[in-house]
Amino acid sequence: MRLLVIEDEDDLRASLALALRDSGYAVDLAADGGEGLYKAGNSDYDAIVLDVMLPRLDGWELLRQLRLTRQTPVLLLTARDAPKDRVRGLDTGADDYLVKPFNLDELRARLRALIRRTAGRAGNVIVIGTVALDTAARMVRRDGRPVALTAREYFLVEYLALHQGQVVTRTALYEHLFDEDDNTFSNLLDVHVSNVRKKLGAEFIVTDRGHGYRIP
Ligand code: CA
Repeated sequence: MRLLVIEDEDDLRASLALALRDSGYAVDLAADGGEGLYKAGNSDYDAIVLDVMLPRLDGWELLRQLRLTRQTPVLLLTARDAPKDRVRGLDTGADDYLVKPFNLDELRARLRALIRRTAGRAGNVIVIGTVALDTAARMVRRDGRPVALTAREYFLVEYLALHQGQVVTRTALYEHLFDEDDNTFSNLLDVHVSNVRKKLGAEFIVTDRGHGYRIP
């Protein structure tokens, strides 16, 4: 899963990047509203963390312009615990908000819920054959037994599971699994797929030749 964090406070931006990457997300960063709108409009992010008070273009205006072209889920960070700010945010098209200072675990939980809701899933658990994916605990079980996946393997499975039955192109997987600074060799995706098949079964992920991958 790939996130965009738009936050002008250097320390907070850096600590968000660190915490979210540590959770296995690919994370792109923007330090002002102009850069944020540009990146948000040009990549297919799974979610955007958007600070409201930003230089060049504030969070409200960024959100208004973004919503003309994209429905990427947006979690607003608001410094003021004012009800009217939250109402304004939700009315402008934000999907959720957090008031600063916030707890990182809560931010992560809200992002997981946002990504899940966007894929049309209300519950935490996705069951595919004998495999059960708990998206809140990030736990995968096969035949009831926990299976250890790396963060990237987990997100590969989660992304395909959220799009079950659809072919997901290699390009889309690269866009959602790796951030813009990640200069990974292209064959690494195949390595992740191969590892997941070893752990969850050879038929768990189907290769659609020339198109991409799919969980049937
Ligand atoms: Ca700010």
